[in-house]
Amino acid sequence: MGRNLDPKCKQCRRFGEKLFLKGERCFGIKCAMVKKNYLPGLHGQKGFRRESEYAKQLQAKQKAKKIFRIQEKQFQNYFTKAGKMKGNISINLLTLLEKRLDNVIYRIGLAESRDKARQLVSHAHFYVNGKKVNIPSYELKEKDEITVREKSKSMSVFGGVFDNIKSSNIPEWLDYDGEKQIAKVVGEPGEKDFDQAIDARLIVEFYSR
Ligand code: SF4
Repeated sequence: MGRNLDPKCKQCRRFGEKLFLKGERCFGIKCAMVKKNYLPGLHGQKGFRRESEYAKQLQAKQKAKKIFRIQEKQFQNYFTKAGKMKGNISINLLTLLEKRLDNVIYRIGLAESRDKARQLVSHAHFYVNGKKVNIPSYELKEKDEITVREKSKSMSVFGGVFDNIKSSNIPEWLDYDGEKQIAKVVGEPGEKDFDQAIDARLIVEFYSR
């Protein structure tokens, strides 16, 4: 899959809001949305543009792709799958995105950003139910257990990570046992767990045109 090579902060500035793509930096004064809260480019400071309904729908879809770090084809596949599932298509779509292995690694706090989580998964640092999984999009289900490969725990990529995991930051549908260093899926993500920056209704409208 092709990588998104756009500078991350520029992506936030284009959307006019923080997408939290850089971990720790996103919460400090070095965040580009604090320093340069206007569109990138020569005329950026003239302000954010007015948008048609179509542009808003397109932007909502693009934003979700950027947040979850996935490409168009895969995003379309999620939409198709969400449409075939029972229930509300918007909620199905957001649920599928939340249940990606790389997202869960990020939500638990084992990685400071989804990019980092994707990289860690691709490098085969995790096991799901005792089996090595190196597919970032791997869809987790209830009762799945995620562990870090024993050999990886002492590697610098995990330096300090385990001590910094805060159970208060972990969504209710996930559980993390700090003693055993095991994460578990204990339910389904609900509306309060979804990324509030994503307007799935606009995404559904975009694909339903
Ligand atoms: Fe976006 Fe984070 Fe860069 Fe701020 S620091 S602009 S939130 S990627």
